[in-house]
Amino acid sequence: MIRGLKYPLSRYTVHRPGTEPIEAVNQQSSTEQQTRNRLIDQDLARAGWSASRRTLIEEFVLSAQPDSPTLGNTPEFADYALLGADGNPIAIVEAKRSSRDELAGKRQASDYADRAAWHAFKELMEAFYEKGLHAGLPFTAAGTPVTQGGITYADFVQAFRDAHRLNPDPNAREVCVLCGGPLGAAPEVDHWIAKHAFPLLSMCADNLLPTCGDCNATSNKGRMPVHDHGSFQDWFHPYFRPGVGAIRLNYQLPGFAVTCAALTPADDVRVQRLDALLNLSQRWTRELKAEYANQQGKLKRYEAQRLSRGQARHTQAEVEAFATSFRDGLLESEPNHEVHRLLGNALLEQARLAAWQTELGLVT
Ligand SMILES: [Zn+2]
Repeated sequence: MIRGLKYPLSRYTVHRPGTEPIEAVNQQSSTEQQTRNRLIDQDLARAGWSASRRTLIEEFVLSAQPDSPTLGNTPEFADYALLGADGNPIAIVEAKRSSRDELAGKRQASDYADRAAWHAFKELMEAFYEKGLHAGLPFTAAGTPVTQGGITYADFVQAFRDAHRLNPDPNAREVCVLCGGPLGAAPEVDHWIAKHAFPLLSMCADNLLPTCGDCNATSNKGRMPVHDHGSFQDWFHPYFRPGVGAIRLNYQLPGFAVTCAALTPADDVRVQRLDALLNLSQRWTRELKAEYANQQGKLKRYEAQRLSRGQARHTQAEVEAFATSFRDGLLESEPNHEVHRLLGNALLEQARLAAWQTELGLVT
């Protein structure tokens, strides 16, 4: 217990994580280093805290946490960290010149202690997720304690996949709940609210969702925040405020650009946020163009086959029948269903049908 230490020449603050800072004030001015050497080190040693006994660390590094909402980018140092019996920091000591504002010193020590506690807590929760879940937790999915056979990362992913299988056939393609694209053979478990900023949610089932690799890529969602400085009002949430049925896809000819819009004005900002988070417009535009090229290639091949057999070229009615067949044959359970349906509608526009037939006329 270090509460009550007094220094005649310096102002310093002491703060144990979870308690209010305490401080001692002296009257004379001195540099931090001089004060420390002459007085603080000696007093701390008399109280049982010293580097030689390995109960104290000088210039204690407060790890930089570049993505944390509360921490800065530059590594910072606290003057001292006092260590408990287990070797972990239990208190932070900051030396301050007596000419400096007392409250500022208190705030700084308090802030440093919060950062040290935060860092230790974050490491604990991430270990629970990174190591515990992958190796198997000592609990069933229902929360019952077990000594072996607890839930694992693989169990979680499998349960999620089973629950979201649009086509019950185990061989059917699965769909990513975020982008509607293919889930892929090895979906990634994404923390909707990033675990580095909210470590307590790293093991919360409502914060976990397997997504496709593209959605989880750093160029898309990655570790991006899904809130505005802690406010979730303008954001969809996969479980609590899903965007299903709230988004309308539009397309623009002739470029086949896809844009997202909200069905109701109340969701305008949420749709914009989601679009920006996952780059949906951009990715869906790419998919629309890719599928168009795919269908275009098929029709050109049919045209070439006809010509090679001495048959007549496709009429516009036949091109329309091809596009109608494409649109009507789409399965809702297939990846990119919404984007392909959009393409089906675009292909059946009269101007697009005419342009398509003109393209076919160039096939030899
Ligand atoms: Zn996805």
